[in-house]
Amino acid sequence: MHEIVHVLLGHDGHQPQAIEREVREIAAQMLIPIGELEKELCWASSEGELADSLGVTVAVLRDRLNLPDARALMERAHFQEWT
Ligand SMILES: [Zn+2]
Repeated sequence: MHEIVHVLLGHDGHQPQAIEREVREIAAQMLIPIGELEKELCWASSEGELADSLGVTVAVLRDRLNLPDARALMERAHFQEWT
């Protein structure tokens, strides 16, 4: 998905760090719709389990959870970070 986002944005290969971050965020958003995240978040007992149930890597999940809509969702759900 990451590479597809580069192509969609017209990039020729990898980009400076700030752009790469943006690409990762877009890829994470495309891979994990907020509705899916909401559905799975209450069942998952660990970061790895949530990533598994969403069919993504933990790295992609972390990128997704840093986005404002996911942060707001976790606040509403009184979500506690996994230890
Ligand atoms: Zn890249």
